[in-house]
Amino acid sequence: MEKSNFETATVVKHTGSHYLVSKLPEWNLIPCVVRGKLRMKESGTTNPIAVGDIVDYQQEEGGTGAIIKIHPRRNYIIRKSTNLSRQSHIIASNLDTAFLVVTLDFPETKTAFIDRFLVTCEAYRVPVKIILNKCDLISEEYAGYLEAFKKIYNNAGYEVVEISALTGHNVEIVRNLCKGRISLFSGQSGVGKSSLINALDSALTIKTAEISHYHLQGKHTTTFYEMHPLESGGFIIDTPGIKGFGLIEMAKEELSHYFPEMLKVTNKCKYSPCTHTHEPGCAVKDSVDAGTISPERYLSYLGMLEDEDKYR
Ligand code: GDP
Ligand code: ZN
Repeated sequence: MEKSNFETATVVKHTGSHYLVSKLPEWNLIPCVVRGKLRMKESGTTNPIAVGDIVDYQQEEGGTGAIIKIHPRRNYIIRKSTNLSRQSHIIASNLDTAFLVVTLDFPETKTAFIDRFLVTCEAYRVPVKIILNKCDLISEEYAGYLEAFKKIYNNAGYEVVEISALTGHNVEIVRNLCKGRISLFSGQSGVGKSSLINALDSALTIKTAEISHYHLQGKHTTTFYEMHPLESGGFIIDTPGIKGFGLIEMAKEELSHYFPEMLKVTNKCKYSPCTHTHEPGCAVKDSVDAGTISPERYLSYLGMLEDEDKYR
């Protein structure tokens, strides 16, 4: 390759100022650095380059590359860095799927958490699917809860895959959904995300365990994310230690746009803009009454509106 030439590849790992890139779907890692100018380009985020970014790099002496350009992002997942700073951290970009792993019990994933995650994904145009793990623990007696859960999210337009990482039930479905794609795995601690990743590909066990251990030591406040190839095809990004996503700032009237089932009817509201709270002739409230929008989702929506107030 000539010196002036550049190559295009995807960022698969990021540690401090060092990056690893690969020309996906090939897994051939090339270390890269960033030159000063580029680093300052995007303000407001702690990491100008994220895992999943497609970059151009120039080959330098010794096999290292210098990143010279970031291609525009198709989408990304973001997290507020701290409560105090206004900065945010891009967790990953150019995702085909964000899987949210949840459980009905042991531990219970709160709908407030689920719905915040979904809103974040909608706001950044990341297709999201819900994985309901530990289905082996749901006895006949409680099967109704599972059906109710699925109904809420199916009605809202989300696919729910019920699995058991422990027994392997439906893990093959997840594996197939990962093929040929870049997927992000997220979920609160204890839901069995590591178990699922291990069930998808046992070679990934050690790597994810290492990340968790690193975290426990608390040496870093910044989390570094990493892409892993799956033996069966596709690439996954694990997100250890995510407790919650700070909602991105948006106008009150905008929030309902990120609830797909609400977005469908907002044009029928009498007032525009409508916050779907007190306004007469509100199509969203009518739909809740009619049962086509689930009350659980509507309550989440109201909760998020209130939170918006708090942060202002
Ligand atoms: P993580 O914190 O989300 O990575 O969760 P882990 O994978 O560490 O799992 C937390 C606990 O849940 C462990 O004790 C697992 O053995 C257990 N677990 C994970 N998946 C399942 C499952 O499908 N069924 C049952 N019964 N237990 C599970
Ligand atoms: Zn309305």
